[in-house]
Amino acid sequence: QLSTKLQDVFKQLKGKGKLSDKDVKLALREVKLALLEADVNFKVVKQFIKTIEERAVGHEVMESLTPGQQVIKIVNEELINLMGSTQSKINFAPRGITVIMMVGLQGAGKTTTSAKLSSHIKSQGKRPLLVACDVYRPAAIDQLTKVGKQVNVPVFSMGSDKNPVDIAQAGVNYAKENNLDVVIIDTAGRLHIDEVLMDELKNIKALVKPQEILLVVDAMTGQDAVNVAESFDQTLGLDGVVMTKLDGDSRGGAALSVKAVTNKPIKFVGMGEKLNDLEPFHPERIASRILGMGDVLTLIEKAQQNIDEKKAKELEAKFRKAEFNFEDFLEQMQQIKNMGPISQLLGMIPGMNAAKLNEIQGQVDEKQMAHIEAIILSMTKAERLNPSLLNMSRKKRIAQGSGRDLQEVNRLIKQFEQMQGMMKQFSGAMKGKKGKFKFP
Ligand code: GDP
Ligand code: MG
Repeated sequence: QLSTKLQDVFKQLKGKGKLSDKDVKLALREVKLALLEADVNFKVVKQFIKTIEERAVGHEVMESLTPGQQVIKIVNEELINLMGSTQSKINFAPRGITVIMMVGLQGAGKTTTSAKLSSHIKSQGKRPLLVACDVYRPAAIDQLTKVGKQVNVPVFSMGSDKNPVDIAQAGVNYAKENNLDVVIIDTAGRLHIDEVLMDELKNIKALVKPQEILLVVDAMTGQDAVNVAESFDQTLGLDGVVMTKLDGDSRGGAALSVKAVTNKPIKFVGMGEKLNDLEPFHPERIASRILGMGDVLTLIEKAQQNIDEKKAKELEAKFRKAEFNFEDFLEQMQQIKNMGPISQLLGMIPGMNAAKLNEIQGQVDEKQMAHIEAIILSMTKAERLNPSLLNMSRKKRIAQGSGRDLQEVNRLIKQFEQMQGMMKQFSGAMKGKKGKFKFP
């Protein structure tokens, strides 16, 4: 995995006091291989390494007090640049109706993403309308109607015997008449790019003049996603990209290459099949995830969406002070269940590299949540608040009380201590840095 590989390379660099040009070149060779293996576009990798080399082999690094960290800092900055440096938002029309056209190949996730996006936009206080322009796939209209209902956004459709261009226009008119201000057009896809599809999309574009044409691409298709983006951009002109299925085991290369190849930003990423699994794309957060610096901001945002704000603030403060105890753990468990797969959340904690993640993941999966809950419930309140009380006889009692074996109880306590250790490390790194990254 990309992040494990890079973290290994950098661990070696950090250990060294002084770096020679040769050290840096060797490390960058490893970085290059790791990126290529993660399916990042070849040309992008070449340029990326060249830029870093120019900065890293020279004064900027050699004269700094911590050369290894300096190299990592440069790689982090260039990763962020590669992905577009800042978060790119939807362009809303200054007045009147904003039209967003969703385009992409079949199965990329257009319909799902249309609903996710409408829900996201609605939560910003806007009044979206979904318009069903895929008249070719048999159940496409029903699918959009269904997901629209789930997120409580109206869906405009005219059946499957009308022309998509007319439907799009009628949808915009419907929005005007009904005081809705954002129109999201779900268009048809094809297995491959062809002229008929492109002509249809061009005609819709010419008629409704969208503020945003968003291409939906599947991260799992790797470099194909980048090629698709390039050709859609050439024929249609894109404003941004939504990359779906980043929750799957894609190697992430497409997310790193798309901006560099097409010069169009990724605006959102799809992180699951559920209709709240859409996240704004933050280049700096993704970069820090790749370099194993965790992604506490996303974690906290997720917490805020699913837990009420006061609770999230408390959680954040506890994280920072490393005061999280079993009592909190228990309380959060219910809410964490709503936040998404545990592995995904764990990956956002700083210091959590892929190896650690695998180790912990093997032990905590969703199915085991109930067991963990039983074990914690068998602790006394004093034990939950102060886990250092847990000596052997107490552990035995807890094992009996929860019906789990002693090994499992021990494992949970050990994991918990690991987690606390990581939080301490993180809160140490935050101190005195005022929101700036420190490289532990
Ligand atoms: P369309 O043909 O482009 O409209 O694609 P759909 O919206 O019908 O999605 C195709 C499949 O991909 C569906 O099964 C979706 O549930 C799934 N899907 C869409 N986005 C994501 C995502 O971000 N993560 C995962 N795991 N699945 C997704
Ligand atoms: Mg569809």
